[in-house]
Amino acid sequence: MNTPSVFWLTNIKLETGFEQAEDGSFQTKAELFHLKIENGIISDVQKKSENSILHAPAVDAKGLLGIPTFREMHNHLDKTYLTLNWKACKPVKNLTERLKHEATELEELAGSVKQRAGKMIETILANGSTHIRTHVNIDPFIGLKNLEGIREALDEYRGKLTYEIVAFPQHGLLREDVPSLMKEAMRMGAHIVGGLDPAGIDKKVEASLYEMMNIATEFDADVDIHLHDSGHVGFYTIDKLAEMVEDAKWHHRAAISHAFCLGDVPSQQADDMADRLSELDIAIMSTIPITKSLPPIELLDQKGVRVYLGCDGFYDSWGPFGNGDILEKVTRYCELYRRIDEKSLAYSLKWATGGPTALTAEGKLAWPKKGDEANIVFADAVASSEVVARTTKREAVMFRGKVVSGALA
Ligand SMILES: [Zn+2]
Repeated sequence: MNTPSVFWLTNIKLETGFEQAEDGSFQTKAELFHLKIENGIISDVQKKSENSILHAPAVDAKGLLGIPTFREMHNHLDKTYLTLNWKACKPVKNLTERLKHEATELEELAGSVKQRAGKMIETILANGSTHIRTHVNIDPFIGLKNLEGIREALDEYRGKLTYEIVAFPQHGLLREDVPSLMKEAMRMGAHIVGGLDPAGIDKKVEASLYEMMNIATEFDADVDIHLHDSGHVGFYTIDKLAEMVEDAKWHHRAAISHAFCLGDVPSQQADDMADRLSELDIAIMSTIPITKSLPPIELLDQKGVRVYLGCDGFYDSWGPFGNGDILEKVTRYCELYRRIDEKSLAYSLKWATGGPTALTAEGKLAWPKKGDEANIVFADAVASSEVVARTTKREAVMFRGKVVSGALA
């Protein structure tokens, strides 16, 4: 559906506060609003009333709930089997065999990378994410081929979402010509420098981190490292990375994906590290796995550490599962940690949106505000709490004032 450049989005349900019942439990209040949207920006927010006079074309949201769009912050668009014939994973004995298999297979699949990634982008968008951070393999086998295909696939979605590409050394950063390939990837348009298990894969913690930071400073780019290394080895790695981030003054520019180790160490250590991450504004990306220890998301959040979620690669040589739904990750997180009351559920939406929620924790209006981009997910629900708990189907997704998935009609 094409929307005009100036229009009123009428009858959108927005949350307005919490009310407490006699038994102490809370419920979310919501009312119908009209939003004026001019060139993708919300320029007016009016409560619906009998005498609302709207001097512009109208698009009727028909009472659907509006919530902020989501951010998919850890993904691998280049690996998926989407659009190909069904394929389960090949059984392997260990990580070395898995990596070897992926290297061969990705070369075979290189010709269809744009098509496969396109389907994945469409799926992620339909589920409500209008920003995608994707890692793309940069390795001695695939070289830069997947990066080209992913850039082409994302280009097809220009105007429908924003994105960031992380150059990802899946087979290790300190081998063969990977550092020079990584630099070439940055010249070709990758935005962020990736890394991978400095202990488990590169087997040289300091040298691996140093190389990653070195490329980042050379290209004035952020970093986002995959860290599966668990327990004290992983913790040591974060400690060293924090030192390097501080030395390079790379505050607000580093992220650690997975960081299982933060959930493995004694709570005092995790607490101290949360303070350190907060001070350096190092973000944590989690995919809410059910078979690994999770970083302590609530603690990190309380300390002011930015936590984002991602679906990771899905339906690929690493795993046949997954659906590109970041909201499902939040539902799972709430289920795992018993976040079952109205306010906890509503607050948890921030991990899908990357920050914004309709109401503050205290129940004050926080979104949408005049001047915000008109990035809205529409769902047939009473409030954010219901959307989070029930993983409500998304009827439509709006990005900068345009319906980019689903329909409002
Ligand atoms: Zn990953």
